[in-house]
Amino acid sequence: MERNLKVRAVVTSVKNLGDIHKSVSLFSPELGLIYATIYGGRKGKKSSLASLFSVGDFQVYYNPVKNEYSITEEDNLFLPQNISLDILSTYTASYFCETVTRIKTDTPDQVYNLLVSALLALEKSPESHRKILIDYTWKLLNISGTAADLTECPSCSRRLPEDEVLYFSTSLMTPVCRACSDTDSIVLLPGSRKYLIYTQNMSFEEALSVQLYETAQERLTQTLLRYINAFCRYPLKTISSGML
Ligand SMILES: [Zn+2]
Repeated sequence: MERNLKVRAVVTSVKNLGDIHKSVSLFSPELGLIYATIYGGRKGKKSSLASLFSVGDFQVYYNPVKNEYSITEEDNLFLPQNISLDILSTYTASYFCETVTRIKTDTPDQVYNLLVSALLALEKSPESHRKILIDYTWKLLNISGTAADLTECPSCSRRLPEDEVLYFSTSLMTPVCRACSDTDSIVLLPGSRKYLIYTQNMSFEEALSVQLYETAQERLTQTLLRYINAFCRYPLKTISSGML
């Protein structure tokens, strides 16, 4: 492997490493998730490197002996201002960043593009954080190959009428008809299902422009958060903490 790399990436977490250094996680279209150290990253000029939720082109050094990446320089491409001014947007962005650390993907480029689009949307309209969360989560489940088409039960293949309430199968990790479900705690109501079917093959941006009433947004948010928790096998911290 090349020792000096140029990596385009989103900064998905930032941690202090003692008094002097920083450790960050990056999500890149080629490498997926990587962890990198910024030596001297808590002081002076280097403290501005790799801000949380920002996007940049990073100069990265790979040390094969330590199997460790370190960041030496950054050309910043996107530095959000509005997200951190709004607490719910900050939580939502943290949730986005946690999901990409937990989803196993063969297409990190698609996940990267979705993550950047969602952060840009959040920066532009922090007040729309719920709608952005819904469209992001549904798109991520589709990219991960877990989303059923919701028009027929994936377990018994029965065609589902529009007004039928769906339940969840924790073994198939997808909504199914009531008879095929193994839990009654996650419910997909007909209106929410209609929205998910309608937006399923749209781009994230197209889905974002489709209107969804606020009460429906709240219900669908709770359903999708439980859906993604089940998909990730154990709960995401940003969800179990109740921040969302
Ligand atoms: Zn069924």
